[in-house]
Amino acid sequence: MNHKKIAALFTCSLVSAGINAAVLPTVQTDSDWYKNGAQRVADKTQITTKQQAKNVILFVGDGMGISTLTAARIYAGQQLEGNQGGEEHFLSFEHFDNTALVKTYNTNQQTPDSAGTMTAMVTGVKSKAGVLSVSDTSLRGNCLSSQGNELTTLVDLANAKGLSTGVVSTARITHATPAATYARSPERNWEADSNLTDEAMSNGCSDIAKQLVMRDKDNALTVALGGGRRNFIPSDVTDGENQSGRRDDGIDLTQAWIENFDNAAYVWNKTDFDAIDVDSTDHLLGLFNSSHMEYEADRADDVGGEPSLTEMTAKAIEMLSKNDQGYLLIVESGRIDHAHHGGNAKRALIDTVEFSNAVSAAVTATSDDDTLIMVTADHSHVFTIAGYPKRGNPILGLVHGVDGSLSTASDGLPYTTLGYTNGPGAVVGSRDDLSSVDTEATDFQQQALIATSSETHAGEDISLHATGPGAHLAQGVMEQNVIFHIINQAQMLGGTKY
Ligand SMILES: [Zn+2]
Repeated sequence: MNHKKIAALFTCSLVSAGINAAVLPTVQTDSDWYKNGAQRVADKTQITTKQQAKNVILFVGDGMGISTLTAARIYAGQQLEGNQGGEEHFLSFEHFDNTALVKTYNTNQQTPDSAGTMTAMVTGVKSKAGVLSVSDTSLRGNCLSSQGNELTTLVDLANAKGLSTGVVSTARITHATPAATYARSPERNWEADSNLTDEAMSNGCSDIAKQLVMRDKDNALTVALGGGRRNFIPSDVTDGENQSGRRDDGIDLTQAWIENFDNAAYVWNKTDFDAIDVDSTDHLLGLFNSSHMEYEADRADDVGGEPSLTEMTAKAIEMLSKNDQGYLLIVESGRIDHAHHGGNAKRALIDTVEFSNAVSAAVTATSDDDTLIMVTADHSHVFTIAGYPKRGNPILGLVHGVDGSLSTASDGLPYTTLGYTNGPGAVVGSRDDLSSVDTEATDFQQQALIATSSETHAGEDISLHATGPGAHLAQGVMEQNVIFHIINQAQMLGGTKY
């Protein structure tokens, strides 16, 4: 059937139903849904496109799949005074004009890990799970096989162009995602020299912490902020929070940072972080925890005191903005992933909201005219929003239907909206009755189907949100390594050879 015939049929059926297709009733056009939708499209027609970006900020929410965005958006919305249920809320970067879906698989894994995914984003090529910025011709955990297969990262390219560079994470700064930006290693677990195998040592592979600090001056990071202090200090040294180091070579890399770079500073707690004079500091290393930094939900309880992801992002931008030529900043919210692995949705959502706040701070501190901001994830988690909860039902609560009554499953028991396919919250035998359990408690683990000690990553696409010059390149469904090429193109880093 041709299009004209279909259109004629459609018109006929509308007329027979007594509806004039050309005139919309006021019940429709007066609706806020209608007006807001029309405004959104009208705004889109006004967007102009700039190609070149002076600065680029890449935000990565580790494990921040699309269901995490939806749940975190509702969670944040439900905290707001006068909300309409929470579902209408947007996370800061969900207002960005450009969005794409991103395929995350590694070259050897259908469901990926963070090392391979971040390698794709910062080098432009996909690689294996577990390896950092070496090509997939390397074998994981084999030093010799990685030699000659090292890849150049966005950080190397930006430094070579004279830009300033920074890496921020709430995980250990030597953990897979941040590490892929500055280190090359066939094994993500080689965070300190004590993690190296005999083969790695004899073939001259260097640990990840050392690769962050022992760099040429002209390829140094301007800012590195995160956790993982233990990988930078000797094993016989105890840090300010009473934890010992993991280095067997006796080198104090925090001291080496100060000696290696001009006007360099090292801080390990919030008081010293706050006191940093940005004007007189050109290289800032901040290591705020022995291992990962605290979840945002627990940050106030930290022994030495930690800055938030928002505070670290704002300080990094201040430091990097001193370079008139521009900068590249990579910010990871590293613990959304860890909370999900623990089957613990509340901490994952609170960290996602803090991540959204950090993006918001970056938007405020920069100009849409010269700064490309991209927000994405490395991979998803097996996390779902389920049942038919009524509008405004607490996102961490038990499902209540539209009539307000408690919904029950086939076993006659209530269930939470949020759940996992696998993980430590898995039900063995019959389900616990959650009727009198506080499912909104910080430590509550959502029920899951398959028992695994750690909940796992998921294999579906994640999202990419972009604003600023070059943001229009974030479109469609793309492979994850395209993110490198968007930044390379927008910032003219010179990494293109065709
Ligand atoms: Zn993970």
